[in-house]
Amino acid sequence: MLQQTQANTVIPYYERFMETFPTVDDLALGDEEMLLKLWQGLGYYRRARNLKKAALVIHEKGMPQTFEGLRELPGIGDYTAAAIASIAFDEPVAAIDGNLLRIYSRLYCVDDVIDRSKGKNKIFALANKDISRERPGDLNQAMMDLGNKVCTPENPLCLLCPLRDDCAAFKEGRVAELPKKTPKKKQTLLDYTLLLLDLDDSFLLEKRETGLLHGMWGFPLLENHLKTEDVQKYLTERNVMTRSVENRGSYRHIFSHRIWNITIVYAKVDALFAKEESGLWVDKKELERYAIPSAFQPALEVIHGLD
Ligand code: SF4
Repeated sequence: MLQQTQANTVIPYYERFMETFPTVDDLALGDEEMLLKLWQGLGYYRRARNLKKAALVIHEKGMPQTFEGLRELPGIGDYTAAAIASIAFDEPVAAIDGNLLRIYSRLYCVDDVIDRSKGKNKIFALANKDISRERPGDLNQAMMDLGNKVCTPENPLCLLCPLRDDCAAFKEGRVAELPKKTPKKKQTLLDYTLLLLDLDDSFLLEKRETGLLHGMWGFPLLENHLKTEDVQKYLTERNVMTRSVENRGSYRHIFSHRIWNITIVYAKVDALFAKEESGLWVDKKELERYAIPSAFQPALEVIHGLD
């Protein structure tokens, strides 16, 4: 849950999650829709699905107790595997996240960019050479705290740092220029028209089949910003007869590399002459039972604001 999400946001989600799925077996055998519903608002739903897949592997085969074994679990990367292996099983392996990459690039004046494999591999080798053989979990946790509180991205507190005497960047006066990173790519802006189709207070939901939010329920999205006349024409061609089609505002939803730029079009539907293959008509009052991602939240607000 804490991947990409701040601790304060996570706490209530974590508590509800633990109440519903108190053991690995409960999660492995539990209902996926319920899990996604509990995750609603946290985003990055792949984490939830991977967590469930990992629970299923553990339920069937038992808990792996080595870095290599943990690495095989769905959703567990090098960092998490190393953190668990060192903290729970005393395996001397460094847990390398953004904090540790920053600390090490400064400690050893690593000039390679830290978001590419060359720089990462160099730091991986240095950190695993330095890792404590007796208390690897404690060292990993100490480094997490050091990165969080002392060796921060901006204005690190070098004068309070316990590693200052060993820090090459401090000695050479290069702290501010490290770590080096590849310049960020611009986010891609995608224009969509979101359809709110209202058939006697039921709304059409579709399970997204590809791309972002794949496998999640959402409202139909059409590419580009369409005028209401174009939406009406689109619907008529699909045998959806409408009484009115109106624009209901626009919003942006920002993902890590993409921005959805969305116009909401609300259509009061009179009759359907063809069954929507991929969709589900859900009564307004029942919508909250579905795990609808926050990217669609403004559309839900429009629905709640209807008479
Ligand atoms: Fe980071 Fe400064 Fe400590 Fe070096 S001395 S590890 S730059 S806080």
